Amino acid sequence: IKISKSYKLASRDFHPDDTVIDMKGVKIGGSNLVIMGGPCAVESPEQIDEIARLVKAAGGQVLRGGAFKPRTGPYSFQGVGVEGLVMMAEAGRKHGLLTITEVMTPEYVDVCAEYADILQVGTRNMQNFDLLRKLGTIQTPVLLKRGFSATYDEFLNAAEYILAGGNPNVMLCERGIRTFETYTRNTLDLSAIPVLQGLSHLPVISDPSHGTGRRELVEPMSKASVAAGANGLIVEMHTDPDNSMTGDGVQSLFPDQFANLLKDLEQLAPIV
Ligand code: PEP
Ligand code: MN
Repeated sequence: IKISKSYKLASRDFHPDDTVIDMKGVKIGGSNLVIMGGPCAVESPEQIDEIARLVKAAGGQVLRGGAFKPRTGPYSFQGVGVEGLVMMAEAGRKHGLLTITEVMTPEYVDVCAEYADILQVGTRNMQNFDLLRKLGTIQTPVLLKRGFSATYDEFLNAAEYILAGGNPNVMLCERGIRTFETYTRNTLDLSAIPVLQGLSHLPVISDPSHGTGRRELVEPMSKASVAAGANGLIVEMHTDPDNSMTGDGVQSLFPDQFANLLKDLEQLAPIV
């Protein structure tokens, strides 16, 4: 592959050792496997509390949930906003989980960082350079999702914006790319995992939920991701997926499926 290597701080040439992000004892990167689970969107205090309980009971370490949702259409549910950050922070604290939430604009970075442990940049914002630059000015870990049409080079250059600003705590997330195939919502690019780990020292997290858009594919693609060397997974799980407030119920695991998946993964790699 032809790689321009216009990025430097993200490159393994520059930083040979794996980056390991240590957050309150949870290590992301190196030989550790981190599991992030939760709903697409925070919907209510009861919903996020119950899902947090189930993520913790299954052995997950990070609670995911969007308070600000990047929706394709302007009339769709856009997330509950700052109140959702409060609900999720409380659920994470109560159940002993770290939290991750998406931030869409530079103006909201500070408030999101106040409430969440990890900030997610969604696929649609991978090249929102103002957002990336703002995330470079803080130390909160960032999970940067690959743009659905981004090359590895573009992806690593996006990470470079955050690193160049002075925030070394970046993890990369493969969440599927757009191909000619429409059976799956996206095509999870499994090769991205070893390729990015070769080119970069940053942890690589796989998102089999958005990567496939189909619940029945989440388990096999989670296992495939771990077998390919992923440093972690971010998986959607919901107690009532059919009535979830975003369309992502169809790709959300039921709690028992989530728990069984984590049990199976223990056979492949220790979750630490
Ligand atoms: C999400 O995590 O719910 C999400 C919107 O992800 P992506 O940006 O990968 O579509
Ligand atoms: Mn989602």
